[in-house]
Amino acid sequence: SVPPGYRHTPQTQFRHGDVRAAQRATLEALAAQIAASPRSVPARLGAERLLGTRLAGSRNPAHRDVVVAQWADHDPTIVEAAVATAERAARALGDLGLAGRAAICERAAAYLADHRREIVATEVLEAAKPWVEADNDVGEAIDFLHYYAQMARRLERADRLDSPPGERNRLHYRPRGVTAVIPPWNFPLAIPMGMTAAALVTGNPTILKPAEQTPLTASFIADAFEAAGLPPGALVFLPGRGETIGQALVEHPQVATIAFTGSKAVGLDIVARAATLRPGQRALKRVIAELGGKNAIIVDADADLDQAVPGVLQSAFGFAGQKCSAASRVVVHRRIRDAFVQRLIEAAAELPIGDPRSSATVVPPVIDDEAQARIRGVIADAADAATLAWQAPSTPSEGSYVPPTIFVDPDHRAPLWRDEIFGPVLVVDTADDLADAIDRANDTDYALTQGVYSRSPSSIRRVVDHARAGNVYVNRPITGAIPGRHPFGGFGHSGVGFKAGGPSYLLQFLDQQVVSENL
Ligand code: GLU
Repeated sequence: SVPPGYRHTPQTQFRHGDVRAAQRATLEALAAQIAASPRSVPARLGAERLLGTRLAGSRNPAHRDVVVAQWADHDPTIVEAAVATAERAARALGDLGLAGRAAICERAAAYLADHRREIVATEVLEAAKPWVEADNDVGEAIDFLHYYAQMARRLERADRLDSPPGERNRLHYRPRGVTAVIPPWNFPLAIPMGMTAAALVTGNPTILKPAEQTPLTASFIADAFEAAGLPPGALVFLPGRGETIGQALVEHPQVATIAFTGSKAVGLDIVARAATLRPGQRALKRVIAELGGKNAIIVDADADLDQAVPGVLQSAFGFAGQKCSAASRVVVHRRIRDAFVQRLIEAAAELPIGDPRSSATVVPPVIDDEAQARIRGVIADAADAATLAWQAPSTPSEGSYVPPTIFVDPDHRAPLWRDEIFGPVLVVDTADDLADAIDRANDTDYALTQGVYSRSPSSIRRVVDHARAGNVYVNRPITGAIPGRHPFGGFGHSGVGFKAGGPSYLLQFLDQQVVSENL
């Protein structure tokens, strides 16, 4: 159900020369500023800006010696002050009501729209996000703000219960209390913004701990809410490491809700820590965790390869496969297997790999050296578990690149087939018929995205009916969910909680209270 005032924000049209030139000018100006000196990203507790004594840096993945931003690497003791700051703002935030907070979200959206080029430039330099994907990330953040604002307005009206004569029954929603938001770096604006906007619009003072790799991009969230007139302290912006600040937030007795998006390992650790009651804790913590995927696309015998080949490539190698929604497995019908693999390789060889400072780049470097080493290790180990069909022959020497790689005929027990890789690695498996293809596609404990390319309505229906995945895509790529159109999130090992950008998402940040009045 789409709220009436919601409309998806269109992409920036970089194909127009003047639009491209304006983006390039902003990008080059920011790159020059950063080359002169890195940006600094302090913690923000109310009016206070705390840079502390120890600094860490986010680095440009395409130029590892360039520090994009220095952020305050605080000790976990700062969490006490952060929580106190947030709690002090609870009253002012509550007094605004749902409508007042929805209006703030809309003003924050306007701020992002006004700063779109600057944020895109920041993402290109800090996350190596290609232009179009960075622009989509900003658009998605704007969408989340509008969508949750509209959903909040709707919540305000959803209070009528069956009330017999002489009795009035009402359902109220109450904020749960201080919320910790712990996002990943791969959608460095949209994902933290989605979780933060949902927490704030429902009235919860929020502490946002951005990912270590992308604090400068996330700092636009704090800017946007500040410009929008959010009461000071209601959003604490707290850069820090997961192992220190993240863990202290999760364990803090006054943190009632934790909204996390990231790996399964970290998600499970958060769930376990959140289950332990600590002195002074009055709420049982609620964890919303969007985790990984091992997503498959089925290519049926009658698939239109003109659609399937680019769709698979975009899903697998766009942003170097660093999306939980990315395709990491293809299951192709035996009848077209050879033709499909040949065309896939030919098309993959055309993918522009490089520094996303060029607007043409599709496959950028991966986020950092650690990720590069890990993914290259996975590729090396996979040689025993599958046949290497293709690998990009070269990548730029500077920067944390991993060559896009395609394997075929995998051993189904191997990590290549089972584990999330989060990089530009794709494995193609072959099925004897559609039933076999469905079994192979579902052969994972994750349940996030799945795709099917087919021209037969009955085959499509069979795949859809059996797909063990939260988001199923038919004859299109399997990434790029748009809030309100494709509410996003999985089940199984892919996470707990309602879909982001969907009708139930806000409810997770609220407690319900029923008041029954004898008249
Ligand atoms: N929502 C994103 C998409 O549809 C994926 C989010 C993620 O990677 O965490 O592509």
